Amino acid sequence: TEELLRKADKLSLVGELAAGVAHEIRNPLTALKGFVQLLQAKAENHPDYKPEYFEIMLSELDRIHFIVNEFMLLAKPQVSNFQPKDIRILMQHVVALLTTQAIMNDVQIRTEFESDIPLVTCEENQLKQVFVNILKNAIEAMPNGGDLMIQMKMYSSEKVLIRFVDQGCGIPEELIPKLGNPFFTTKEQGTGLGLMVCYKIIETHQGCIHISSEKDKGTTVDIILPVHVREVRE
Ligand code: ADP
Ligand code: MG
Repeated sequence: TEELLRKADKLSLVGELAAGVAHEIRNPLTALKGFVQLLQAKAENHPDYKPEYFEIMLSELDRIHFIVNEFMLLAKPQVSNFQPKDIRILMQHVVALLTTQAIMNDVQIRTEFESDIPLVTCEENQLKQVFVNILKNAIEAMPNGGDLMIQMKMYSSEKVLIRFVDQGCGIPEELIPKLGNPFFTTKEQGTGLGLMVCYKIIETHQGCIHISSEKDKGTTVDIILPVHVREVRE
């Protein structure tokens, strides 16, 4: 529990700082990108024109934008919009979104949802972001393909379990405590922000995340969320 609390404290501090900084970075970034594109259009006819320089500049600018956007998600929503939703439908949307990436990586996504899953009070887009981040990690962990199973079942009468099981590279035991730390990544192109965002969002949903893994066997990510409780009226 102490470990969890410490992580939560760190996250809220990082979140507040990051949201402020991220917001300030976005506008100048948009200006920079516009002028680089303008410059490229002007330079195209020059004898020393190197298109790859512009491609690198633009893709690096996109990368900054991507990181900044991931940070922005940590900002507490101005108007919180928690609504009871069918999370099976949210998950189907996300799976549809990632189908192309899965096919390109030879990954089969399977789903096993119990039929009587109650609604979950949630910020729809934030919860989708969590599913996207976890599914992407699973796909990225299977460069040679494999099965990716998504299960949903009741965990108790008031809680639902969402389980993601991949057959990927796994995570060495000593690195498990580092998951969710800002900037912890083992990928060359990683940001190390995806799981931090997941922890933060699930925390605001009064849920929890548990990750277990075996090197070279695969990883299981469990999310437990409280289900929607109907208000009792006369
Ligand atoms: P990123 O994906 O940018 O590296 P994340 O926060 O999403 O950042 O993940 C952090 C790290 O956790 C990854 O770099 C990887 O080492 C590990 N990881 C997360 N999910 C998985 C998974 N399903 N299989 C193997 N490793 C994983
Ligand atoms: Mg990731």
